[in-house]
Amino acid sequence: MNEMDQEEIAKRRGLYFPSFGIYGGVSGLYDYGPYGSRIRDNIIRIWKQMMLSEGNIAEYDGTAITQASVLKASGHYDRFFDYSVECKKCHTKYRADHLIEEAGFEVNLSQSWLDEKIRELNLKCKNCGGELGPVQIHKLMFHVDQGNDQEGLFLRPETAQGIFINFKEYYRFFREKLPFAIIQVGRGYRNEISPRKALYRLREFNMMECESFFDPVNEKWIREPNDKEEIKFLTNYGKELTMSPKEAFDKGIIKSQPLAYFIGKSFQFFLRIGIDKEKLRYRQHKKDELSHYSSDTWDAEALTSIGWIEITGIAHRGNYDLSRHIEFSGRDLYAQRTIPQKKVYEDIKEIDFAGIRKKFGKDAASLIMQIKEGKKEIEINGAKVDISEFISIRKEEKIVDRENFIPVVIEPSFGLDRIIYTVIDHNLHVREESGYNVLSIPREISPYDVAVLPLLSNDDMEKMAIHIFQDLLLKNINAIYDDSGSIGKRYARYDEVGITYDVTIDHDTLKDNTVTLRHRDTKEQIRIKFDEIENRIRFYPWNGKIN
Ligand code: AMP
Repeated sequence: MNEMDQEEIAKRRGLYFPSFGIYGGVSGLYDYGPYGSRIRDNIIRIWKQMMLSEGNIAEYDGTAITQASVLKASGHYDRFFDYSVECKKCHTKYRADHLIEEAGFEVNLSQSWLDEKIRELNLKCKNCGGELGPVQIHKLMFHVDQGNDQEGLFLRPETAQGIFINFKEYYRFFREKLPFAIIQVGRGYRNEISPRKALYRLREFNMMECESFFDPVNEKWIREPNDKEEIKFLTNYGKELTMSPKEAFDKGIIKSQPLAYFIGKSFQFFLRIGIDKEKLRYRQHKKDELSHYSSDTWDAEALTSIGWIEITGIAHRGNYDLSRHIEFSGRDLYAQRTIPQKKVYEDIKEIDFAGIRKKFGKDAASLIMQIKEGKKEIEINGAKVDISEFISIRKEEKIVDRENFIPVVIEPSFGLDRIIYTVIDHNLHVREESGYNVLSIPREISPYDVAVLPLLSNDDMEKMAIHIFQDLLLKNINAIYDDSGSIGKRYARYDEVGITYDVTIDHDTLKDNTVTLRHRDTKEQIRIKFDEIENRIRFYPWNGKIN
């Protein structure tokens, strides 16, 4: 199924659609409808459950509006941009590197190189054939206008920074033991030059991020990487390999144990939510492709109707973020490790307060207060005062068995909208015999557990169907009720949005309380008592096959 088909079905069936449709919409902004929101929530639930079940992972929920100083420290303020070119005639904007890539050339990400290459290849506007202007820097962060706020606020381009800033809270929460990880599900905002392809390149998008912290001398997750699943890897020197993450780590293809661990973990998650493992690979970033903070990154890429797309990035961020926040905020974001006991000599500053009182009389109190506040320059009535004669340094012997260090970070960052796009792409197919679409997603992410459908619109049947519907709701089964249109049309409607089961109420139901349970994928039906429905869809889910 191609990209346009998916978008048309998604819109028609309430999976997702462009935001602000009645006003013409804004590119790169999409909403999730009644079915899409539920699929999205189910994917988030599974992801959180899988992550939290590690036992040393906790949740965080920070704000999207972010203080500029945070982004100055993280490097986004200065370095988070793409290169754009604009058509001089119709003013369509393009990403300069994409234009060159589409022309079939490897890209070098420097402004002058891109500019020269565009002239050399004589690339023109794809929209009107017009001449392209110079390559320019296009900042990707959205500025939030805050009136007279001095420092400025931005919408976060990734959710990670809030986690780094609060590292110490979680360090205490985890009783000062590494490794541990912090997860966050939230929105990121990027002012993309050319948002396109529905959920693929958005300006506001959903991320599920995990920051895991390690002592660099023992960079090891609490469990071993997956040794069961065979995964396709594409290394940064162009070699394709198929092996388990454990083997890839043992052979030194993936250098970091936790990186290999999270690759395996993400793979299991992808399979569980219905991504086709034959259309999944992990590609290592080339040196010039790495983000400013990363020493090694592997992208999970899925093959979809729009080609291979990155759906998750698993990056080694080193100690970049924490060390920058230590530097910029002046605060302690260190962890500590035990070391063999050793003697150290510490400089202890001693101040002769009695001497200060004697010399400065009535001004002494103010001077002492300034010293205690840690002021660098001490003054009386605006005039600097030299107090060096009252300060002496004494060496003190101490036994220490702890030392500070800056943890290193491995970050799996999941692009939720691209994952949803891929899940739909891999599972939406056309039934040969009828030409109807079926979304064969796993039961766990199905937007509803079951559709309850009276066969005919007659009072008795509808009353019974509503009774069954409400009984299921009371049992916390996500049911949807529908009595409009022919039964065939209703089956098709729910097949297309991925609901696994239909329960049909017919003449026999009124006589003996039996209903038919239909499975979306096989279209098979079995007849069961209505009080058995819960059992057949929740506790012992029927696979749609009749023996
Ligand atoms: P990054 O920090 O660029 O690695 O982004 C984290 C994840 O978010 C990526 O793996 C993508 O799947 C996803 N992502 C990045 N940019 C966008 C975007 N503009 N629209 C939708 N998803 C995105």
